[in-house]
Amino acid sequence: MMTYGDTRATRTYDAIVIGSGISGGWAAKELCEKGLRTLVLERGRDVRHITDYPTATLNPWDFPHRNRMPVAFDEANPIATKCYALDEATQQFFVKDAEHPYQQEKPFDWIRGYQVGGKSLIWARQTQRWSRFDFEANARDGAAADWPIRYADIATWYSHVERFVGISGNKDGLETLPDGEFLKPWELNCVEKHIQQRVAATYKDRHVIIGRCAHLTEPQQIHYDQGRAPCQARHLCYRGCPYGGYFSSNSSTLPWAAKTGKLTLRPDSVVHSIIYDEVKQKATGVRVVDAQTKQLTEYYARIIFVNAACLNTNLILLNSTSRRFPNGLGNDSGVLGRYVAFHNYRGNILADYEGFEDGYYYGRRPTTAFMPNFRNVNRQETDFQRGYMVAFSASRGQGQPTAETFGAEFKKRITQPGPWHVFMMMQGETVPRYENHVRLSPDQNDAWGVPQLVTSIGYTDNDTKMMDDFLVQGAEMLDKAGCKNIRPYDDHRNPGLDIHEMGGARMGRDPKTSILNAHNQIHSCRNVFVTDGAAMASTGSQNPSITFMALTARAVNYAVGEMKRKNL
Ligand SMILES: Cc1cc2nc3c(=O)[nH]c(=O)nc-3n(C[C@H](O)[C@H](O)[C@H](O)COP(=O)(O)OP(=O)(O)OC[C@H]3O[C@@H](n4cnc5c(N)ncnc54)[C@H](O)[C@@H]3O)c2cc1C
Ligand code: SF4
Repeated sequence: MMTYGDTRATRTYDAIVIGSGISGGWAAKELCEKGLRTLVLERGRDVRHITDYPTATLNPWDFPHRNRMPVAFDEANPIATKCYALDEATQQFFVKDAEHPYQQEKPFDWIRGYQVGGKSLIWARQTQRWSRFDFEANARDGAAADWPIRYADIATWYSHVERFVGISGNKDGLETLPDGEFLKPWELNCVEKHIQQRVAATYKDRHVIIGRCAHLTEPQQIHYDQGRAPCQARHLCYRGCPYGGYFSSNSSTLPWAAKTGKLTLRPDSVVHSIIYDEVKQKATGVRVVDAQTKQLTEYYARIIFVNAACLNTNLILLNSTSRRFPNGLGNDSGVLGRYVAFHNYRGNILADYEGFEDGYYYGRRPTTAFMPNFRNVNRQETDFQRGYMVAFSASRGQGQPTAETFGAEFKKRITQPGPWHVFMMMQGETVPRYENHVRLSPDQNDAWGVPQLVTSIGYTDNDTKMMDDFLVQGAEMLDKAGCKNIRPYDDHRNPGLDIHEMGGARMGRDPKTSILNAHNQIHSCRNVFVTDGAAMASTGSQNPSITFMALTARAVNYAVGEMKRKNL
């Protein structure tokens, strides 16, 4: 849409970032700090830190449905409501099914947050670094394209990101889960410590640690400078945290970028596609549909960062066609949209622990106990490829009144802690497969005239074998720790509900089998960088977002260097 004073020049920036979530926020911060006039295009509404967290301080009785969603909402949103974090306090940050349809060729639960800040408002904030084994895995077993980088290439960028984000954690000295720049760790409770000791006594290769997470246990000056304050262990994080106790784009990277005076943030801007100039042989800008008026506008820049989150990044690239790239931007190899992978969360175990009746814990700790992967680390040793992290927690239930208790005795019992229970789950690596892919619907568009995405992503036998192994190994570890009533089960969840989708525009050494090079730069369109989950050549078994952030900061550094060297 052209308005008075609106010219190509006023819509031209040094850099464009598509998406304002975890990775887009980092791209914006780094680009602005390096002096580039940066336009961030975000399809969703604006969400300002603190003022736009309407439920952050409400009590359970303040909610019309006591923080549960009405049945009609659940029925209208069979996909979104599968996410454990969606409730009456948080539903404003989740995409509703009917508003953003997609086609599931195989069942795939696509959980999304379309707003300024993206899913950084509603993530679980677990931040485990990848290890050298994860970057070497593809080369070692040949199951996917070799990563063009190794742990040493990204280690300093992890540190760079961790210092700014604020990561609590313990230095555990494990090669399978490298230490980072940590603030004070959260503590394991007495039953978790007991399991930790029993596992260490029984298995040489298995280690229980407290999860590293993006919470300010001990803020440093850099965090106070962002306007953030210590985490209060309330664990109401998914509503948005008025203290800035956890890291989100809204509390951290975006306001930091804005302070430079270089940031223009444009919410309600649905990026339709990237414009490729056949003469200049590079991208010149993006086409944007206004989310409210549906009018089309073009914005221009020297470099473009695509950070719309894995599947939407794939969608935008596939939809960016030209004579040079009829099958999507940078898709000479034909692998764009292919090798999409995720995390296998199907395996779960419940158990009880008798004892430690005099033990309790303080507050609501926003993290959990973890075990780094111990399967196929150095060599192939099982009948499945790759491995899994284990997460578990122990907590006390409510005291149980019997049918006969009532009055004062009833009240007393329900306010006393009940027995200890343990919940354990797997976070398994899935191996990227050519057949697991996304593509554009040939005939179905969304309300903004953008083709809908078709998801064709499923489990393989490898995933089932891995889950079976976890159920046996997890039950054995709990048994050795003295747990009782151990109940392993497959929850049969669909892929996608892990919300760790990765791949589709993977990094690689060979342009014939990958889309991006070692700097997240499209091999054949070098002023476009992809630094969200779409870039991943494998999934590791760690929570992925800290790696997206580190890759983003690293790629910005490279891109700005290339601009200075006049290569871009
Ligand atoms: C409940 C939950 C728990 C999670 N827990 C963890 C965890 O503990 N640890 C972890 O590492 N990860 C976790 N994740 C995953 C994590 O949230 C994502 O990996 C991360 O947010 C990805 O960052 P991103 O920048 O790629 O995408 P997002 O944060 O999703 O941001 C993408 C942005 O792009 C915008 N966008 C999309 N399409 C367009 C378009 N066409 N035009 C303009 N803008 C567009 C979106 O609206 C969105 O704001 C969790 C996610 C959820 C929902
Ligand atoms: S637990 Fe910490 S980060 Fe989460 S809402 Fe509470 S204060 Fe904020």
